Amino acid sequence: MTVFKYNKNKLFCESLSILKITKKIKTPFYLYSNKLIVENYKNFVANFKKIRPLICFSVKANSNLSILKVLKSLGSGADVVSAGELLKVIKSGIKPKKIVFSGVGKSEEEIRLAIKNKILLINVESESEAILVNKISGQLRKRTSIGIRLNPDIKASTHRKISTGKSKDKFGLSRQNIISFCKKINNLKNINLDAISVHIGSQILNDFPFRKTLVVLSSIIKDANLKLKYVDLGGGFGIPYEAKDSKINLKNYSKLVYRFKKKYNCNIIFEPGRSIIGNSGVLVSKIQFIKKNKNKTFAVLDAGMNDFMRPALYEAKHNIKPLVKRKKIHKSNIEFVGPICETTCKFIEYRKFQKIYEKDLVVILDVGAYGYSLASNYNTKPLPEEIMVTKNKFKVIKKRQSLTELLK
Ligand code: PLP
Repeated sequence: MTVFKYNKNKLFCESLSILKITKKIKTPFYLYSNKLIVENYKNFVANFKKIRPLICFSVKANSNLSILKVLKSLGSGADVVSAGELLKVIKSGIKPKKIVFSGVGKSEEEIRLAIKNKILLINVESESEAILVNKISGQLRKRTSIGIRLNPDIKASTHRKISTGKSKDKFGLSRQNIISFCKKINNLKNINLDAISVHIGSQILNDFPFRKTLVVLSSIIKDANLKLKYVDLGGGFGIPYEAKDSKINLKNYSKLVYRFKKKYNCNIIFEPGRSIIGNSGVLVSKIQFIKKNKNKTFAVLDAGMNDFMRPALYEAKHNIKPLVKRKKIHKSNIEFVGPICETTCKFIEYRKFQKIYEKDLVVILDVGAYGYSLASNYNTKPLPEEIMVTKNKFKVIKKRQSLTELLK
């Protein structure tokens, strides 16, 4: 399904040679395929067709305004975690009644903004937060729909740094705490408990933890005798980054969610991020210098952990491909590293890679999710450019930050 393919040894995105883009745009830059974003979204919808869920794209994965507009045109809502994300989503045209607000530590200002904008749900993560939402709603003379986020104490079988559903993790309330909170909630007159939300982690590659979560949710709904308008099942659906990664099969899970929806007569919300945007983006970079030590060759790229943080933060593996293929093989191991003054500013090491030269261009694959959105000005480097390809055309969707801007 990928749209990143070689044609006469040159890597294309849709029907545009990436090499052509590099003649006009300075590396490093993010490059997205419009087609792939649309396909991913439509596939997600198709997987859960019978359920007709509200899909709230998780904006933390990628908050580029042009990308949000594409998703809006497909019918997507949004899951936001800050005032900035909320305002961006509203600017993209996504209606407030399709927005849910997650996050363990929303500020008073953020809660006020969400209430004023009458979004669909504020998913609270503590009793104190619910009390604060109630108080601010009273001040604003509004009644606010809330969800409570469950921490189901389920292992998501993913990297420990992106697991969110174990009792040792800071997210949500335990089953017991939710049940006891439900008994008190009628005293809070300015909020309606309309939903339970749950998100057990990210990059999950099998449906078992999701199925287990449904069991915990069922038990809460029964024990607390809840009548809910929505059950928000979060995101977390993984994508294959490496050859060893399996592809998650959502068919069985979809059937179970359908039964769950029927049984409890509620609407379903999903908050996918990575599965919509992850494989749609690459980071285009230049090999600046090549140097050898005893056992391996270092290819020093112009993209670093400031541009793309996942390998440094989560030990994530992202494959690298050349923009122009060669037959000759490099004689030693090659490690692709970045320019930042940190040992962890490195991407991937290959035993076998084609012969490389300084000034060669490469792409780091599958960086659409948690790529640009995690980029920083570390080492006082400017943020990179973002480009969108549609068929054989490209458009700048976010300009590179200038050094002047950095100096302000
Ligand atoms: N919902 C919540 C509450 C999250 O914290 C996240 C990401 O961590 C997501 C949705 C999106 O997850 P993913 O990108 O893995 O689908």
